Amino acid sequence: MQLNELFPNVKFDEPMKNHISFKVGGKADIFFEPDNVRDFIEFIRYVKENNIPYIIMGNGTNMLVSDDGIRGAVIKLGDKISSIEVIDDFIIAQCGAKLSEVAKIAAENSLTGFEFASGIPGSVGGAIAMNAGAYGKEMKDVVEEVEVLDSNLEYKVLKNKEMEFGYRKSAVEKHNYIILSAKIKLMKGNKSDIKALMQEYDERRRSKQPLDLPSAGSVFKRPEGYYAGKLIEEAGLRGKTIGGAQVSEKHCGFIVNKGNATAADVYDLIKYIQKTVYERFGVELETEVKLIGKFE
Ligand SMILES: Cc1cc2nc3c(=O)[nH]c(=O)nc-3n(C[C@H](O)[C@H](O)[C@H](O)COP(=O)(O)OP(=O)(O)OC[C@H]3O[C@@H](n4cnc5c(N)ncnc54)[C@H](O)[C@@H]3O)c2cc1C
Repeated sequence: MQLNELFPNVKFDEPMKNHISFKVGGKADIFFEPDNVRDFIEFIRYVKENNIPYIIMGNGTNMLVSDDGIRGAVIKLGDKISSIEVIDDFIIAQCGAKLSEVAKIAAENSLTGFEFASGIPGSVGGAIAMNAGAYGKEMKDVVEEVEVLDSNLEYKVLKNKEMEFGYRKSAVEKHNYIILSAKIKLMKGNKSDIKALMQEYDERRRSKQPLDLPSAGSVFKRPEGYYAGKLIEEAGLRGKTIGGAQVSEKHCGFIVNKGNATAADVYDLIKYIQKTVYERFGVELETEVKLIGKFE
């Protein structure tokens, strides 16, 4: 049977710029957003059996997709797989749940510990894969256990330690895990304090980050002993523009799409920044953003 007979809502030649926060990039050969976990497992079995390469995405806020697009399948684990349940001091969230939603529900239930993540625009799956963090806290500080499928599509429940969390990384990439859901451990707190802290973080973000333009957040990881944004600024690159891609005037760690950027513009600017910062300070900037597809 053909793919679209088995999975009626599969799309072909889907523009990825509609699905990633950078709003650049070419088309994915196959694009599938499953309605539920069962659909997802059937689809991934099919692509594996037919040797179709695939990638998993959440909310697409940490990705740069090449202008050539993606050969094979993109599986988006998004809004349709996003239930959130509160049990005592725990929140059980499916991979597609937005961090902002989890934070909102935590606040409503007077649970503290998730405020740091309220303004990170990713999904639970993407945030755990990346060990996303802000304001001195990371996902590793709140994740109790994670339900995953391993590379043989076997179901496993992994404890925090088994997730091998590190700075903006986890065992997910190394072992090709697919995150299905997570159990997040929080603590009882005071609802108005929780809301006030979330608001404070929100204001800090709004004042420092260019949230009005498409981007993928901080492009580079923090090099040990430095701040990427500060190095970029001190290298004189604030506002540096290639095509439609620009080093943000507001936050030099961000590259923004001024409206008509291509993925190649963004990539060329990344390379230019890396070269300039290395020549100036001898520091190698490593990308935090995932480059997907063919570059160069
Ligand atoms: C304005 C802005 C501000 C940001 N601020 C921050 C910040 O403060 N801190 C921070 O850490 N990041 C920040 N980011 C980056 C980004 O939001 C985080 O990295 C986020 O966790 C990515 O989640 P996502 O669902 O969008 O992942 P995606 O971009 O969709 O995917 C990222 C990676 O995770 C993998 N992945 C996604 N879902 C799954 C899954 N279910 N199972 C296995 N792998 C999966 C993908 O394959 C990919 O490798 C920011 C981005 C923007 C645009």
